[in-house]
Amino acid sequence: MPEDLETIDAIILPGGESTTISMLLESSGTFEPLQELLSQGLPAFGTCAGMIMLSNKVLDGRTDQRSFDRIDISVRRNAFGRQIASFETDIDVIGLEEPFPAVFIRAPGVETAGPEVEVLATVKLDEQTEIPVLCRQNNVLVSSFHPELTGDLRLHQMFLSEL
Ligand code: GLN
Repeated sequence: MPEDLETIDAIILPGGESTTISMLLESSGTFEPLQELLSQGLPAFGTCAGMIMLSNKVLDGRTDQRSFDRIDISVRRNAFGRQIASFETDIDVIGLEEPFPAVFIRAPGVETAGPEVEVLATVKLDEQTEIPVLCRQNNVLVSSFHPELTGDLRLHQMFLSEL
């Protein structure tokens, strides 16, 4: 809720359903104040639907769906397929010594990333296409997958260490 934003130093936008998150942020009056904080530089970590919320362009979204425009990526919803195409895989991440267990659930796919975006990990979408799944632009970190669904805290630590 808007009043909950008064005391935060950073925010994690988790997975879920970006169309619903967008709608609830609007109906609760939270979208505008959060947008304001983010544009002032509030650090943010978005996972899956949270990545969609922080992107500057949403493909295959609802027409009334909004995003915060905090990282220069265009993101296609459900790029890896439907719920049944969800999968887990170990990925190599720049800055981590050991592979990271990544859980993809109706995950978004990054279609374009601007010059200021650092791509920290990629996966194969199909035989021909390798796409970014972990990206950073200044203090905004986004992942197509769900680090919160494993006990591995390294990405949360990466985010916090840069606050
Ligand atoms: N497909 C969902 C969306 O469009 C995201 C799924 C997820 O967060 N696991 O928002």
